Amino acid sequence: MKKIKRLLIVACILNAGLLLGCRAIAQTYKDFPWKQLPVRGLMLNIPQRADVELLCRFIREALPAEGVNTLALRIEWWYQFESHPELAATGALSKAEMQQIVRACKDAGIRLVPMMNLLGHQSEQTELLPLLAKYPQFDESPDLNPPVPWKYGNWYDFYHKSLCPAHPDLLKIIFPLMDELIDVCGAADFHVGLDEAWIIGYDKCPRCGGRDKAEILAEYIRKLHAHLEEKKCRMWMWSDRLIDGKTTNLLGWQASMNNTHRAIDMIPKDIMITDWKYENAPPTPAYFAIKGFDVLASACADTASALAQLEQIYAARKDGTRAEFAQTLAGRMQGVLETTWISTGEFIRAYYGRKPYSDGASANITTFKNLFRVIRQTGR
Ligand SMILES: [Zn+2]
Repeated sequence: MKKIKRLLIVACILNAGLLLGCRAIAQTYKDFPWKQLPVRGLMLNIPQRADVELLCRFIREALPAEGVNTLALRIEWWYQFESHPELAATGALSKAEMQQIVRACKDAGIRLVPMMNLLGHQSEQTELLPLLAKYPQFDESPDLNPPVPWKYGNWYDFYHKSLCPAHPDLLKIIFPLMDELIDVCGAADFHVGLDEAWIIGYDKCPRCGGRDKAEILAEYIRKLHAHLEEKKCRMWMWSDRLIDGKTTNLLGWQASMNNTHRAIDMIPKDIMITDWKYENAPPTPAYFAIKGFDVLASACADTASALAQLEQIYAARKDGTRAEFAQTLAGRMQGVLETTWISTGEFIRAYYGRKPYSDGASANITTFKNLFRVIRQTGR
Protein backbone atom coordinates (compact mmCIF):
# COMPACT_ATOMS: atom_id res chain seq x y z
CA MET A 1 0.00 0.00 0.00
CA LYS A 2 2.81 2.34 0.99
CA LYS A 3 4.50 1.57 -2.26
CA ILE A 4 1.37 2.46 -4.20
CA LYS A 5 1.08 5.73 -2.28
CA ARG A 6 4.67 6.56 -3.05
CA LEU A 7 4.10 5.80 -6.69
CA LEU A 8 1.01 7.99 -6.67
CA ILE A 9 2.93 10.88 -5.15
CA VAL A 10 5.70 10.49 -7.74
CA ALA A 11 3.10 10.31 -10.50
CA CYS A 12 1.43 13.49 -9.21
CA ILE A 13 4.73 15.35 -9.10
CA LEU A 14 5.58 14.21 -12.63
CA ASN A 15 2.11 15.14 -13.80
CA ALA A 16 2.33 18.57 -12.26
CA GLY A 17 5.72 19.02 -13.88
CA LEU A 18 4.35 18.00 -17.25
CA LEU A 19 1.41 20.33 -16.86
CA LEU A 20 3.68 23.19 -15.93
CA GLY A 21 5.95 22.29 -18.83
CA CYS A 22 3.01 22.16 -21.22
CA ARG A 23 1.78 25.49 -19.94
CA ALA A 24 5.22 27.01 -20.49
CA ILE A 25 5.31 25.64 -24.05
CA ALA A 26 1.75 26.80 -24.66
CA GLN A 27 2.76 30.26 -23.55
CA THR A 28 5.69 30.20 -25.96
CA TYR A 29 3.88 29.14 -29.09
CA LYS A 30 0.80 31.27 -28.47
CA ASP A 31 3.09 34.26 -28.24
CA PHE A 32 4.63 33.60 -31.65
CA PRO A 33 4.85 37.11 -33.15
CA TRP A 34 3.01 36.26 -36.37
CA LYS A 35 2.08 39.87 -37.05
CA GLN A 36 5.69 41.05 -36.99
CA LEU A 37 7.35 40.33 -40.33
CA PRO A 38 11.11 39.95 -39.85
CA VAL A 39 11.79 41.18 -43.40
CA ARG A 40 9.86 44.15 -44.77
CA GLY A 41 11.82 44.81 -47.93
CA LEU A 42 11.90 47.04 -50.97
CA MET A 43 14.02 46.36 -54.05
CA LEU A 44 15.25 49.36 -56.03
CA ASN A 45 17.56 49.82 -59.00
CA ILE A 46 20.82 51.57 -58.35
CA PRO A 47 20.13 55.28 -58.95
CA GLN A 48 21.64 57.42 -61.65
CA ARG A 49 24.54 59.43 -60.25
CA ALA A 50 22.43 62.59 -60.26
CA ASP A 51 19.81 60.85 -58.08
CA VAL A 52 22.08 59.56 -55.29
CA GLU A 53 21.16 62.45 -52.98
CA LEU A 54 17.47 61.97 -53.76
CA LEU A 55 17.73 58.27 -52.87
CA CYS A 56 19.57 59.01 -49.62
CA ARG A 57 16.84 61.42 -48.55
CA PHE A 58 14.18 58.85 -49.51
CA ILE A 59 15.96 56.18 -47.45
CA ARG A 60 16.20 58.43 -44.39
CA GLU A 61 12.74 59.99 -44.58
CA ALA A 62 10.34 57.67 -46.38
CA LEU A 63 11.52 54.13 -45.71
CA PRO A 64 11.35 54.18 -41.88
CA ALA A 65 7.97 55.93 -42.07
CA GLU A 66 6.68 53.22 -44.39
CA GLY A 67 8.03 50.48 -42.13
CA VAL A 68 10.65 49.21 -44.59
CA ASN A 69 13.59 47.58 -42.80
CA THR A 70 15.45 46.08 -45.80
CA LEU A 71 16.62 47.62 -49.06
CA ALA A 72 17.76 45.28 -51.83
CA LEU A 73 19.73 47.39 -54.29
CA ARG A 74 20.18 46.07 -57.84
CA ILE A 75 23.76 47.21 -58.36
CA GLU A 76 24.78 44.75 -61.09
CA TRP A 77 27.48 46.47 -63.22
CA TRP A 78 26.78 50.05 -62.10
CA TYR A 79 29.64 50.26 -59.64
CA GLN A 80 33.21 51.34 -60.29
CA PHE A 81 34.86 48.06 -59.30
CA GLU A 82 38.47 48.46 -58.20
CA SER A 83 39.26 44.81 -58.89
CA HIS A 84 37.85 45.01 -62.44
CA PRO A 85 37.44 48.62 -63.59
CA GLU A 86 36.73 47.31 -67.10
CA LEU A 87 33.40 45.86 -65.90
CA ALA A 88 31.82 49.12 -64.73
CA ALA A 89 28.87 50.10 -66.92
CA THR A 90 28.42 53.67 -68.14
CA GLY A 91 27.18 55.83 -65.27
CA ALA A 92 28.48 53.45 -62.60
CA LEU A 93 28.56 54.86 -59.06
CA SER A 94 31.87 55.61 -57.38
CA LYS A 95 32.85 54.12 -54.04
CA ALA A 96 32.13 57.47 -52.35
CA GLU A 97 28.64 57.56 -53.84
CA MET A 98 27.96 53.99 -52.71
CA GLN A 99 29.18 54.93 -49.24
CA GLN A 100 26.66 57.77 -49.12
CA ILE A 101 23.86 55.23 -49.72
CA VAL A 102 25.34 52.87 -47.12
CA ARG A 103 25.42 55.71 -44.57
CA ALA A 104 21.81 56.64 -45.27
CA CYS A 105 20.77 53.01 -44.70
CA LYS A 106 22.70 52.88 -41.42
CA ASP A 107 21.10 56.12 -40.24
CA ALA A 108 17.64 54.78 -41.06
CA GLY A 109 18.25 51.33 -39.53
CA ILE A 110 17.82 49.68 -42.94
CA ARG A 111 19.56 46.43 -43.87
CA LEU A 112 21.20 46.88 -47.30
CA VAL A 113 21.34 43.85 -49.59
CA PRO A 114 23.51 44.29 -52.70
CA MET A 115 22.31 42.48 -55.83
CA MET A 116 24.04 41.19 -58.94
CA ASN A 117 22.69 38.91 -61.61
CA LEU A 118 25.15 36.06 -61.94
CA LEU A 119 23.63 33.74 -64.55
CA GLY A 120 21.10 35.05 -67.10
CA HIS A 121 20.34 38.67 -68.01
CA GLN A 122 23.82 39.19 -69.44
CA SER A 123 22.33 41.08 -72.39
CA GLU A 124 19.65 43.72 -72.65
CA GLN A 125 17.78 43.42 -75.94
CA THR A 126 20.59 43.39 -78.54
CA GLU A 127 23.28 44.85 -76.27
CA LEU A 128 25.75 42.71 -74.32
CA LEU A 129 26.22 43.76 -70.69
CA PRO A 130 29.79 44.35 -69.47
CA LEU A 131 30.79 40.85 -68.38
CA LEU A 132 30.11 39.20 -71.74
CA ALA A 133 31.21 42.29 -73.67
CA LYS A 134 34.65 42.08 -72.02
CA TYR A 135 34.87 38.30 -71.51
CA PRO A 136 33.05 36.64 -74.43
CA GLN A 137 34.54 33.28 -73.44
CA PHE A 138 31.93 33.12 -70.62
CA ASP A 139 29.03 33.13 -73.11
CA GLU A 140 27.05 29.88 -72.73
CA SER A 141 25.76 30.12 -76.32
CA PRO A 142 28.09 32.13 -78.61
CA ASP A 143 26.09 31.10 -81.66
CA LEU A 144 22.65 31.87 -80.18
CA ASN A 145 22.09 35.61 -80.36
CA PRO A 146 19.32 38.18 -80.00
CA PRO A 147 17.16 39.00 -83.02
CA VAL A 148 18.16 42.21 -84.81
CA PRO A 149 16.13 44.36 -84.73
CA TRP A 150 15.12 43.31 -81.23
CA LYS A 151 11.69 41.83 -80.57
CA TYR A 152 10.28 40.27 -77.44
CA GLY A 153 9.18 36.68 -77.99
CA ASN A 154 7.51 33.90 -76.05
CA TRP A 155 9.20 31.69 -73.48
CA TYR A 156 10.81 29.52 -76.14
CA ASP A 157 12.31 32.47 -78.07
CA PHE A 158 15.56 34.29 -77.34
CA TYR A 159 15.33 36.44 -74.22
CA HIS A 160 18.83 37.20 -72.94
CA LYS A 161 22.34 35.80 -72.73
CA SER A 162 23.58 33.54 -69.93
CA LEU A 163 26.98 32.86 -68.45
CA CYS A 164 28.47 29.38 -68.63
CA PRO A 165 28.31 28.45 -64.94
CA ALA A 166 30.91 25.71 -65.46
CA HIS A 167 33.58 27.87 -67.13
CA PRO A 168 36.79 27.34 -65.12
CA ASP A 169 37.70 31.08 -65.08
CA LEU A 170 34.28 32.56 -64.29
CA LEU A 171 34.47 32.53 -60.50
CA LYS A 172 37.95 34.09 -60.55
CA ILE A 173 36.30 37.16 -62.07
CA ILE A 174 33.00 37.34 -60.22
CA PHE A 175 34.12 36.52 -56.67
CA PRO A 176 36.23 39.71 -56.36
CA LEU A 177 33.24 41.73 -57.65
CA MET A 178 30.93 40.18 -55.06
CA ASP A 179 33.52 40.77 -52.35
CA GLU A 180 33.81 44.45 -53.24
CA LEU A 181 30.06 44.98 -53.06
CA ILE A 182 29.82 43.08 -49.77
CA ASP A 183 32.67 45.13 -48.31
CA VAL A 184 31.47 48.55 -49.45
CA CYS A 185 27.91 47.80 -48.32
CA GLY A 186 28.98 46.14 -45.06
CA ALA A 187 26.50 43.49 -46.18
CA ALA A 188 25.41 40.39 -44.27
CA ASP A 189 23.21 39.29 -47.20
CA PHE A 190 23.89 39.13 -50.93
CA HIS A 191 21.35 38.56 -53.72
CA VAL A 192 22.83 36.65 -56.67
CA GLY A 193 19.80 36.98 -59.00
CA LEU A 194 19.67 33.80 -61.19
CA ASP A 195 16.20 34.59 -62.53
CA GLU A 196 14.85 33.72 -65.95
CA ALA A 197 17.99 31.87 -67.05
CA TRP A 198 16.57 30.20 -70.14
CA ILE A 199 19.92 29.32 -71.65
CA ILE A 200 21.51 26.75 -69.38
CA GLY A 201 23.11 23.44 -70.29
CA TYR A 202 23.23 24.61 -73.93
CA ASP A 203 23.79 21.60 -76.18
CA LYS A 204 26.85 23.08 -77.89
CA CYS A 205 28.60 24.18 -74.67
CA PRO A 206 31.65 21.90 -74.35
CA ARG A 207 31.27 21.87 -70.53
CA CYS A 208 27.47 21.79 -70.07
CA GLY A 209 26.02 20.21 -73.22
CA GLY A 210 24.16 16.96 -72.46
CA ARG A 211 24.33 17.34 -68.68
CA ASP A 212 21.34 17.45 -66.31
CA LYS A 213 20.33 21.13 -66.20
CA ALA A 214 19.16 20.91 -62.59
CA GLU A 215 22.56 19.52 -61.62
CA ILE A 216 24.39 22.30 -63.53
CA LEU A 217 22.33 24.96 -61.73
CA ALA A 218 22.66 23.31 -58.32
CA GLU A 219 26.43 22.93 -58.69
CA TYR A 220 26.75 26.64 -59.51
CA ILE A 221 24.46 27.65 -56.62
CA ARG A 222 26.55 25.56 -54.22
CA LYS A 223 29.76 27.29 -55.40
CA LEU A 224 28.26 30.78 -54.97
CA HIS A 225 26.84 29.76 -51.59
CA ALA A 226 30.18 28.39 -50.36
CA HIS A 227 31.91 31.65 -51.26
CA LEU A 228 29.26 33.76 -49.54
CA GLU A 229 29.46 31.52 -46.48
CA GLU A 230 33.19 32.26 -46.29
CA LYS A 231 32.32 35.96 -46.36
CA LYS A 232 29.77 35.34 -43.56
CA CYS A 233 27.10 36.49 -45.95
CA ARG A 234 23.71 34.92 -46.48
CA MET A 235 22.79 34.07 -50.06
CA TRP A 236 19.52 35.33 -51.53
CA MET A 237 18.19 34.32 -54.95
CA TRP A 238 15.06 34.53 -57.10
CA SER A 239 12.66 31.61 -56.96
CA ASP A 240 11.72 30.94 -60.57
CA ARG A 241 14.37 28.39 -61.65
CA LEU A 242 13.34 26.20 -58.69
CA ILE A 243 9.64 25.92 -59.63
CA ASP A 244 8.40 23.45 -62.25
CA GLY A 245 6.69 25.65 -64.84
CA LYS A 246 5.01 22.69 -66.55
CA THR A 247 3.15 20.98 -63.70
CA THR A 248 2.19 24.33 -62.16
CA ASN A 249 1.41 26.02 -65.50
CA LEU A 250 3.36 28.99 -64.18
CA LEU A 251 5.37 28.70 -67.43
CA GLY A 252 8.75 30.12 -68.34
CA TRP A 253 9.30 33.44 -66.59
CA GLN A 254 8.10 33.01 -63.02
CA ALA A 255 8.91 29.28 -63.17
CA SER A 256 11.19 26.95 -65.10
CA MET A 257 10.37 25.29 -68.43
CA ASN A 258 13.95 24.08 -68.85
CA ASN A 259 14.15 21.33 -66.24
CA THR A 260 16.12 23.23 -63.64
CA HIS A 261 13.46 22.93 -60.91
CA ARG A 262 14.81 19.71 -59.36
CA ALA A 263 17.79 21.78 -58.19
CA ILE A 264 15.58 22.73 -55.23
CA ASP A 265 16.56 19.43 -53.57
CA MET A 266 20.28 19.81 -54.29
CA ILE A 267 21.12 23.17 -52.72
CA PRO A 268 21.69 24.49 -49.18
CA LYS A 269 18.51 25.28 -47.28
CA ASP A 270 19.71 28.52 -45.72
CA ILE A 271 19.28 30.46 -48.96
CA MET A 272 16.67 33.22 -48.76
CA ILE A 273 14.20 32.76 -51.63
CA THR A 274 12.62 35.89 -53.12
CA ASP A 275 9.50 34.52 -54.78
CA TRP A 276 8.48 37.05 -57.43
CA LYS A 277 4.88 36.77 -58.58
CA TYR A 278 3.52 39.80 -60.41
CA GLU A 279 0.06 38.81 -61.66
CA ASN A 280 -1.47 36.59 -58.99
CA ALA A 281 -0.71 34.82 -55.72
CA PRO A 282 -0.05 31.10 -56.22
CA PRO A 283 0.87 29.17 -53.06
CA THR A 284 4.56 29.01 -53.99
CA PRO A 285 5.85 30.66 -50.76
CA ALA A 286 4.44 27.65 -48.90
CA TYR A 287 6.24 25.32 -51.33
CA PHE A 288 9.58 26.90 -50.45
CA ALA A 289 8.83 26.87 -46.73
CA ILE A 290 7.94 23.16 -46.90
CA LYS A 291 11.16 22.49 -48.81
CA GLY A 292 13.07 24.11 -45.93
CA PHE A 293 13.75 27.65 -47.16
CA ASP A 294 13.00 31.07 -45.75
CA VAL A 295 10.94 32.95 -48.30
CA LEU A 296 9.83 36.49 -49.16
CA ALA A 297 6.70 37.09 -51.25
CA SER A 298 7.81 39.51 -53.95
CA ALA A 299 5.16 41.54 -55.73
CA CYS A 300 5.52 44.49 -58.09
CA ALA A 301 2.72 46.66 -59.47
CA ASP A 302 -0.48 44.66 -58.94
CA THR A 303 -1.91 45.63 -55.58
CA ALA A 304 -4.51 42.85 -55.35
CA SER A 305 -1.83 40.20 -55.95
CA ALA A 306 0.55 41.80 -53.46
CA LEU A 307 -2.12 41.83 -50.75
CA ALA A 308 -3.19 38.26 -51.55
CA GLN A 309 0.45 37.16 -51.18
CA LEU A 310 0.66 39.01 -47.89
CA GLU A 311 -2.46 37.21 -46.65
CA GLN A 312 -0.74 33.89 -47.35
CA ILE A 313 2.31 34.97 -45.41
CA TYR A 314 0.19 36.03 -42.43
CA ALA A 315 -1.98 32.90 -42.57
CA ALA A 316 1.07 30.66 -42.51
CA ARG A 317 2.72 32.71 -39.73
CA LYS A 318 -0.47 32.73 -37.64
CA ASP A 319 -0.48 28.94 -37.77
CA GLY A 320 2.63 29.16 -35.60
CA THR A 321 0.39 30.21 -32.69
CA ARG A 322 -1.57 26.93 -32.80
CA ALA A 323 1.12 24.43 -31.83
CA GLU A 324 4.76 24.38 -30.92
CA PHE A 325 5.69 22.27 -33.96
CA ALA A 326 3.85 24.68 -36.29
CA GLN A 327 6.42 27.40 -35.73
CA THR A 328 8.94 25.74 -38.02
CA LEU A 329 6.95 26.45 -41.18
CA ALA A 330 5.45 29.66 -39.82
CA GLY A 331 8.89 31.10 -39.14
CA ARG A 332 10.06 30.45 -42.69
CA MET A 333 7.51 32.93 -44.02
CA GLN A 334 9.85 35.83 -43.38
CA GLY A 335 7.93 38.63 -45.05
CA VAL A 336 7.93 40.56 -48.31
CA LEU A 337 10.23 42.13 -50.85
CA GLU A 338 8.31 44.67 -52.92
CA THR A 339 10.11 45.06 -56.26
CA THR A 340 10.41 47.70 -58.95
CA TRP A 341 12.18 47.72 -62.29
CA ILE A 342 11.75 51.39 -63.19
CA SER A 343 14.44 53.98 -62.51
CA THR A 344 14.82 54.87 -58.87
CA GLY A 345 14.47 58.57 -59.70
CA GLU A 346 11.05 57.91 -61.26
CA PHE A 347 9.99 55.64 -58.40
CA ILE A 348 10.76 58.34 -55.85
CA ARG A 349 9.12 61.09 -57.90
CA ALA A 350 5.99 58.95 -58.19
CA TYR A 351 6.11 58.24 -54.44
CA TYR A 352 5.90 61.97 -53.74
CA GLY A 353 3.46 62.59 -56.61
CA ARG A 354 5.95 64.79 -58.47
CA LYS A 355 5.18 64.55 -62.20
CA PRO A 356 6.21 63.43 -64.75
CA TYR A 357 6.07 59.68 -64.13
CA SER A 358 4.57 56.78 -66.05
CA ASP A 359 1.36 54.85 -65.37
CA GLY A 360 3.58 51.88 -64.55
CA ALA A 361 5.35 53.91 -61.86
CA SER A 362 2.01 54.99 -60.46
CA ALA A 363 0.82 51.36 -60.22
CA ASN A 364 4.09 50.33 -58.60
CA ILE A 365 3.84 53.08 -55.98
CA THR A 366 0.19 52.28 -55.29
CA THR A 367 1.17 48.66 -54.60
CA PHE A 368 4.12 49.66 -52.42
CA LYS A 369 2.07 52.08 -50.33
CA ASN A 370 -0.89 49.73 -49.90
CA LEU A 371 1.28 46.73 -49.05
CA PHE A 372 3.17 48.61 -46.36
CA ARG A 373 0.02 50.28 -45.03
CA VAL A 374 -1.48 46.84 -44.36
CA ILE A 375 1.79 45.61 -42.85
CA ARG A 376 1.88 48.62 -40.48
CA GLN A 377 -1.76 48.22 -39.52
CA THR A 378 -1.40 44.48 -38.89
CA GLY A 379 1.76 44.94 -36.86
CA ARG A 380 0.22 47.46 -34.50
ZN1 LIG B 1 28.42 25.82 -70.16
